[in-house]
Amino acid sequence: MPIYEYRCNRCNKEFSALFLKPKEISKVRCKYCDSRNLTKLISSFSVHQTEESRLSNFDTSRPRGDEFYKDSRNVGLWAKKRMKEMGVDLGSKMDEIVEKGRTGKILDEYNK
Ligand SMILES: [Zn+2]
Repeated sequence: MPIYEYRCNRCNKEFSALFLKPKEISKVRCKYCDSRNLTKLISSFSVHQTEESRLSNFDTSRPRGDEFYKDSRNVGLWAKKRMKEMGVDLGSKMDEIVEKGRTGKILDEYNK
């Protein structure tokens, strides 16, 4: 399944799109404003981007909109980076925590 990165020429936001079928590629629209005026970014970057580089490109101090959290990968990513920033090394428990992050339970547990 190819994942392509796009930049919207109308609202200037970048997003990635995953395509299940090749014909969907020609119908891609901006996630934010529904524009079809998009610039395709270098696709190999996102396909081969490691989780580590996703984490390092990720700024947890910036507020994120609802759209961001609709992508469950981003929720998990936020949780992992946040743990790192707090100096918490959870090792193998991390996946469990990320899973909780995805289901929205993480804040309950760590705000106690
Ligand atoms: Zn747009």
